[in-house]
Amino acid sequence: MPRSELLPYAFFEGQIVPSDQAKVSIATHALQYGTGVFGGIRGYLTADGQAINVFRLPDHTRRLMQSARFIRATLPYDADGVAQIIVELIKRNAPRFDVYIRPFIYKADLELGPKLRGIRDELAIYLIPLQEYLPVTKPIRVMVSSWRRVEDNIIPSRGKVSGAYVNSALAHDQAEEAGFDDAIMLNAEGKVAEASGANIFIVRNGTLITSPITADILEGITRRTIIQYAHDLGIPVEEREIDRTELYICDEIFLCGTGAQISPVGVVDGRTVGNGEIGPITKRLQELFFAVVRGEEPRYQHFLTRVPLE
Ligand code: PMP
Repeated sequence: MPRSELLPYAFFEGQIVPSDQAKVSIATHALQYGTGVFGGIRGYLTADGQAINVFRLPDHTRRLMQSARFIRATLPYDADGVAQIIVELIKRNAPRFDVYIRPFIYKADLELGPKLRGIRDELAIYLIPLQEYLPVTKPIRVMVSSWRRVEDNIIPSRGKVSGAYVNSALAHDQAEEAGFDDAIMLNAEGKVAEASGANIFIVRNGTLITSPITADILEGITRRTIIQYAHDLGIPVEEREIDRTELYICDEIFLCGTGAQISPVGVVDGRTVGNGEIGPITKRLQELFFAVVRGEEPRYQHFLTRVPLE
C-alpha cells in the first residue's frame, strides 16, 4: 500500500483541527504501551461525485466502542456520536476520491506504568485516500506464517487493539520478505485464524467456510457482510474451524476486510488454489460487494451512510 497523505482536517481532543495540529506528546501512554483501539472504515465516492458512501458506519463505530471496553476507555461519545463526528469530518474534508477513515481511541495521559484504569482517554480521527490495499482482480500468493495469531487470553483478538498489531506486522513482514503478498496466521490451537489484516473464507464443494469468531479472529464487518450475502444468494455457509491442510485442497480462497475488500488467493504455500484464477463463488460475492459499495444495489442501501459533499 502506498504511503498516504492525511486529508487536511482531523478530529483531535474534542474538535476538528488542521491535521498538522493533531499531535501528541512522545510520552503518551498509548504510544509507549499500545493502549489504543482503532477502527478502519471505507468511504466510496458516488458515481456522480456528489457524495461519499460510508460502508456500514454504525457497525464500525459500534465495534470501535466494543474494542474501547477492552482497554476500559471512557469517552463523552457513544457509537452514534462517533459516527456523527465522522460524517462532519468527511463534509469538512470534502474528498473527491475514495477514502479510508481511521478513528482511534487512546490512553492519552503521560503516565508511567502499564495499566488501564484512571488514565484519560481521547478520540482522534483522520482520513487518507485509499484505493486497493490488496489486489482484487489478480489472485494473490500467501504463506502460512510461523507466527501464531495472538490469543484472546493474551490480548483481546476480536477487537482492534493497537498493540496487538505487532503480531500482524511480524507475520506480514515475514510473508513479504519471502516474496508473498500476505500471511495466513494459525491460532494457538493450530487452526486457521485469519490474514494479517483480513478475515479468510475458503470454498469446498460449493460451501463457503470461514473460521468462527471464537478462533482468535477479529470480528470482521466485511466477514459478517459476506456471510449475509451468501445466505441471500443461496450459497451454503459454515462457520467452523478450518485446518491448515484444507487450504491445500479447497476450491477457492479469498481474504476480506475493509482494506482488502475481497481479494482472491491463487497460491498458498506454493500450492495452486483451484486453477489459480478467481473462483466462481468469489467472483459472485465480489460483484455483489462492489455493486453495493458503489450504491448500485437498492436492496443493501441500508449498509451505506450517504454524506453529501458541498
Ligand atoms: N482481521 C484483521 C486482523 C484486521 O485488521 C481487519 C481489518 N479491520 C480484518 C480482519 C477485517 O475486518 P473488517 O472487515 O471489519 O475491516
